[in-house]
Amino acid sequence: MASVEQHVEEEILQAPSRASATNGGIPVENPATGEIVATVPDLGAEAVAEMAARGRAAQPEWEAYGFDGRARVLVRAQKWLMDNAERVVETIVSETGKTYEDAQLAEIGYAGNAFGFWAKMGAEYLADERVKSSQVLVKGKKLLLRYRPLGLIGVIGPWNYPLTNSFGDCIPALMAGNSVILKPSEITPLTSMLLAEGLRECGLPENVLQIATGRGETGAALVEHVDMIMFTGSTKTGRKVAEEAAKRLIPASLELGGKDPMLVLSDADLERAANFATYYSMQNAGQTCISIERVYVEEPVYDEFVAKVSEKVRALRVGKPEGYGSVEVGAITFPPQLETIKDHVADAVQKGARVLTGGKQVPGAGRFFEPTVIVDVDHTMKCMTEETFGPTLPIMKVHDADEAVRLANNSHYGLGASVFSKDTARGEAIARRLDAGAANVNDAMINYTVLELPMGGAKASGLGSRHGAGGIRKYCSQQAIVVTKLAMKKEPFMYPYKARTSRMLAGLFKFMYGRGKRD
Ligand code: NDP
Repeated sequence: MASVEQHVEEEILQAPSRASATNGGIPVENPATGEIVATVPDLGAEAVAEMAARGRAAQPEWEAYGFDGRARVLVRAQKWLMDNAERVVETIVSETGKTYEDAQLAEIGYAGNAFGFWAKMGAEYLADERVKSSQVLVKGKKLLLRYRPLGLIGVIGPWNYPLTNSFGDCIPALMAGNSVILKPSEITPLTSMLLAEGLRECGLPENVLQIATGRGETGAALVEHVDMIMFTGSTKTGRKVAEEAAKRLIPASLELGGKDPMLVLSDADLERAANFATYYSMQNAGQTCISIERVYVEEPVYDEFVAKVSEKVRALRVGKPEGYGSVEVGAITFPPQLETIKDHVADAVQKGARVLTGGKQVPGAGRFFEPTVIVDVDHTMKCMTEETFGPTLPIMKVHDADEAVRLANNSHYGLGASVFSKDTARGEAIARRLDAGAANVNDAMINYTVLELPMGGAKASGLGSRHGAGGIRKYCSQQAIVVTKLAMKKEPFMYPYKARTSRMLAGLFKFMYGRGKRD
């Protein structure tokens, strides 16, 4: 089996314009060990411009493959991913430090499904739509809504899910018939490079998918050249990307940060709620945009819930992933994130919170933080209002469900949310009151796996959404087509104007629109 370094070397050699790459490249660190596993080019603005020209040149041929031709390549890629799953998992683990299980379930599981889903549903979501009109002037004409690929799509991704969040968005963009340039996070570029290699093996034509490795400036340069930008990352960078996209008047789809609340009502199955709170706050070491970041528990069940969660979190093993089943909580991928996590815990403690378990960086090699439960928290604390993005779970006692809803909505974020109650009708009613792009009842995060449902944030958590029909139509422009089959020499309303024709039209409009009732 070839090593990650070998794949990256091949990619570096094959990449089109290494002359335009700046300095000595970007070292990629394994956060679980501190080792440098590869070095990738730091591509400058000139290289991005060259890639954009190549991507544009390659796009018409790819569009001409049609839905069937493109779907065939994606289905081959799906098989390739399954055949190479362990190699991809190793690559993800090597650059993120996450556990093998987190890489398998939330990355391979997601992408495996996504290749097949978009291959099948792309044609359906983007099929020409025959439209009927209430407009009397177009009676008898053929009216069509057509989706056409925008051309060259830029995808900019974060470091927490190199396959799901960086690469994942390329799949529908490609299925729609676009060329794509993906700018992965400088922290985790290797998975994207490996997937690009896989797609080439599966028959994707040259330059239809290119990987622009680099730092923030490379991402900024990409926005200058593409026809649409799909951005996933922090709200702060998302705003910058939106501003630059606005200057160029290109569409931007933004999937940004979150501070997802979990509401535990007094009639909840507490054992299930505690298991879900533990898993969905600590999974991926809490580095998921839709992690449970704060919990509100109704007073009567608060003590029992806290006791259960503390016991479960205390039992988790944290450290270097050595294979499946070795640890539950992996590394903190992005070095500055560790400082944010420590800051949020220290801020809470300084303001009167209690740490029931964890609370500290794990000493020794690698970058790890202990799975942490914090209580006696309130909204003066950063851990309840700002995105922590780490293995921490602050739990707050509330008087009732109304207070839980008020506090859950008291956030500038609005990505996901969850409600736990055995009364599912009540749970759903409360879910509907939450300002969140997705809300789960007696579950959490699972909505993300449902590719048929839109996934996007409210408020500062984003603009637009991925998945569902909108998740592929956003990579297209809409074209209205009107075809006149019964073509007379001229229409009756044309020149010369005649009073008799105008009276007839007035009568027709009155008959059509003046009856005061719905058709
Ligand atoms: P960042 O916003 O720091 O970076 C995201 C990407 O943008 C990276 O590739 C980064 O490059 C690049 N970038 C940086 N500056 C610019 C710029 N000026 N113009 C264009 N691109 C730029 O986010 P993180 O990587 O830290 O990711 C974590 C964040 O992502 C969290 O807030 C998380 O909630 C959010 N997220 C949201 C998801 C969602 O679906 N809503 C899913 C997953 C994560 P580089 O890394 O090289 O600096």
